[in-house]
Amino acid sequence: MSEVHLTGQPFIDAGLAALLSAGKVDRLEELSAERLAQACEELQRVLLSDQALGIGVAKSFAKGTMSQLFPNSELVSPSNWKGETVEEKAESVRRKFREALVSDLQKARASLQAEDGEEVCFACGERRPAAAMATVRKANMPLLEGIVNFYPAFAYGVRICGLCALAVRFFPMSVMRTGVYNRLWFLHTQALPIATAVAQTYGWEHFNRAIAANESLDFFGAWATAGNAGTVLYLLFELLERFGDQLRGVCQNPLPTTAYLFRNDNRGGFVQALPIPHELMPFLAKLQVASSSAYRRLWFELLQVPSGLAEKERKARIGFVQSVAQRVLDSRSIINECLDDAALRLRGGWVGHRLYLQEVRRMATEKLAILEQLGISLAQSADVKKHVNELRAAR
Ligand SMILES: [Zn+2]
Repeated sequence: MSEVHLTGQPFIDAGLAALLSAGKVDRLEELSAERLAQACEELQRVLLSDQALGIGVAKSFAKGTMSQLFPNSELVSPSNWKGETVEEKAESVRRKFREALVSDLQKARASLQAEDGEEVCFACGERRPAAAMATVRKANMPLLEGIVNFYPAFAYGVRICGLCALAVRFFPMSVMRTGVYNRLWFLHTQALPIATAVAQTYGWEHFNRAIAANESLDFFGAWATAGNAGTVLYLLFELLERFGDQLRGVCQNPLPTTAYLFRNDNRGGFVQALPIPHELMPFLAKLQVASSSAYRRLWFELLQVPSGLAEKERKARIGFVQSVAQRVLDSRSIINECLDDAALRLRGGWVGHRLYLQEVRRMATEKLAILEQLGISLAQSADVKKHVNELRAAR
């Protein structure tokens, strides 16, 4: 028997997390043939639902949004939507998808059972028998670019094992949209509890809610924030707020984590990596333990774009959130941006900023103590206005 492990290939690993979540197990080593089958049932239930195919709802997630992940794949290709009536077309596409999924499931089972084999999977590096291997192209593996997509006879595609091919089918359950700009993104992390919490919350549960409400499926994107960096940070804050007890330990000993913005449609592939600094996760976990009100204050005052703002205010707020969030992802100083001179306040609050300076900016505790002492002295001084003006002029 062979064991399932993370591969380092972002799309496959994010798929594995969603597969794990659907198989209702905590560790990849616990994925058995039965769990794989159970997860496939879940995937079919969601992706082949009326709400995914666009029957009786406004939009077709399968024909539309999915073409940005897996163009010309079973759900997308117009040639699979055969039939006279809507039902016939849907049945035809359901059959095509089921056939492909059954084939991948068989190969995944063969991969699990294999001790050795004559081929090597390019993604997980395991040796597998030829019967357990699949040939994938851009239609089923994001960012495998090339003419092969339209002229399969010209090129061979890439050989990956059944387990990796099956995992990538679950990838859509780990995909989200960024705030305001609606770009597709996902988190790639070796910390499985984080990756499975994302797939469970923003994938499975989000899609199940849409199906129950009889609404068109779409990726989760209801973030009250703006921009790429803003969305990534907002997700981290929200995850810790919701699953602090389970995730705090993982955050205090962080593993490499990167957010990827991507597109894999017929206009051409695109990917951009946003690495998450190592110091950021322990900082967030420590702040939440220190004070949940300080944690929320930093979160909302730095990242939230409230609804109902007038256009001009909204634009200014979006600009502020994008700029500060990017600085945080770059581990740069944020205190200048957050000082609101007009309102004489520090956006995010001092408790959050103090810990950021300490944990992320590595400022010495003595320096912080001097700053705080200076602040207290200034506030108590009779000449406070004069001193503040001097300080502003010196900045
Ligand atoms: Zn593999």
